Amino acid sequence: MNNTTVGDDVDVIIIGAGVSGLYNLYRLRLQGLNACIVEAGSGVGGTWYWNRYPGARFDSESYSYQYSFSDELLEEWEWSEHFSPQPDNERYLNFVADKFKLKEHIDFNARVKSATYCSDANRWTVETENGTTKTAHFLITAVGILSAPNMPPVPGIDSFAGTSFHTARWPKEKINLRGKRVGVIGAGASAVQLIPMIAKEVGHLTVFQREPNYCCPLRNSKISKEEQATLKNSYQDVFEQCKKTFAGFMQDFDPRSTFDVTKGERVAFYEKIWEQPGFTKWFGCFHDIMTDEAANEEYGDFVRKKIRSRVHDPKIAELLLPKDHLFGSKRIPLETNYYEVYNQENVALVDVKTVPITEITPSGVRTSQADYELDVIIYATGFDAVTGELARMNIVGENGKTLSEAWSDGPQTYLTLQTSGFPNLFLVNGALFCNYTRCAEVVAEWVSDCINHLSIHGFTRIEATKEAEKAWTEHSNSLTDGMLFTKTNSWFMGTNIPGKKKNFLFYAGGAPAYREKCAQVAADGYEGFLLS
Ligand code: NAP
Repeated sequence: MNNTTVGDDVDVIIIGAGVSGLYNLYRLRLQGLNACIVEAGSGVGGTWYWNRYPGARFDSESYSYQYSFSDELLEEWEWSEHFSPQPDNERYLNFVADKFKLKEHIDFNARVKSATYCSDANRWTVETENGTTKTAHFLITAVGILSAPNMPPVPGIDSFAGTSFHTARWPKEKINLRGKRVGVIGAGASAVQLIPMIAKEVGHLTVFQREPNYCCPLRNSKISKEEQATLKNSYQDVFEQCKKTFAGFMQDFDPRSTFDVTKGERVAFYEKIWEQPGFTKWFGCFHDIMTDEAANEEYGDFVRKKIRSRVHDPKIAELLLPKDHLFGSKRIPLETNYYEVYNQENVALVDVKTVPITEITPSGVRTSQADYELDVIIYATGFDAVTGELARMNIVGENGKTLSEAWSDGPQTYLTLQTSGFPNLFLVNGALFCNYTRCAEVVAEWVSDCINHLSIHGFTRIEATKEAEKAWTEHSNSLTDGMLFTKTNSWFMGTNIPGKKKNFLFYAGGAPAYREKCAQVAADGYEGFLLS
């Protein structure tokens, strides 16, 4: 960290040194702009800096998640596993930051306290919790979608006498769980990665599960030397493939409808995709599992059978079967040896849907029926997604209006990128239903091209018009009609946070349509934006 090289008055401040922030910084500095990052953590990585719990790893293929912008980088970096673990991912992002000399332009340990636009100066002022203040012409929020940890609203959390933390705040120093009585609250994607990693080491593990999920096998493996060369030769094909698919992943839905295929063929098909690694058993299934409830139910039954077959005690198996929501209407966790954990003597599953947690006590977790004495409590309770981190930063636009006030009825944006009343603010945290890096690159390139366009044409201010924002928001919301996501409570819909407006938080038109629209807007002189 070097505050003096970063400077206090710059062209662009980017908030966040994760996948998106680093690439924004790289692009803007390449254009000769004085751009810098302010970052809450002590290192780069974003999601891959904060989520250092055992078992954290990509659940999309490493080579589909990596940056594509530099051939040299693609050549130099070697992935060791098909689904790369957190330590390697953090190392990768450090490698990128070092290779492109980005760290000298990053203020670390600088959590943003407020960001305020001044109309007279046409500049943003960013204040951080470490007491620094900077101003910039443009502000870019590259804060990710899952950055604001959600702690459950149960009383007594601070009274716990043992050790406790959220999965996204897993301590950097090694935590010794050997022989300890450990409780994990939550059964989402983070818990499902964590639990098998700690179950053997702890003395006793209690999992407090509210709603079970459709967890599917990840089927990770090491990348052999021979595979490495073949893989490297295929990178461009991988990127091209990701460009074509709805969500920027390598897999795409099968165009056939479930009931156009005979029962026997369907079962054979389910078995075939089940054996594939990664998200194939979701994004590679028949397309209509995401819209047709009968099609979805049949596949859901197939998955429930798979779960049942792995758990010895039928009563515990029953508790692990998702029945209250449809397959894929919530994010599918990908797992390795997760269900087998419940066959271990030292693991207990507590159903806190029927018997809710009422309190955290100094000695553990209290439900409406029992007390569980614990040495460690791990909160795998998710995030205030997409808008949470933005709200916590106190972003103030024209006339003293905060972003939270402007979005009291759900996010109002144009292209997910700008909000009227907040000039020169680009929201690049990724409100797109998309493989994160694939879309982060598209957005960073669009924003840096846009800033370049403004500079070439002598404009100093860009703001989405009210009309464009309204039309885009209505269009975005209309796309979710009929989607199964909207029929289930989850962080996708904001319903995991009490009081948050229920709203699908992503653009649901697909990555190809999004890219096309952004390109068209730019080609038409940034139609829908007011340039002055
Ligand atoms: P999550 O999916 O939102 O799961 C949170 C869990 O905590 C749920 O089981 C939830 O129960 C439970 N919970 C919340 N409040 C509770 C309370 N008061 N009492 C009892 N249980 C409570 O969060 P996550 O597992 O951190 O995953 C979030 C997202 O991060 C994932 O969907 C995924 O997109 C991403 N992620 C990605 C990776 C990866 O790519 N490798 C890995 C991990 C996470 P209910 O379901 O009943 O609400």
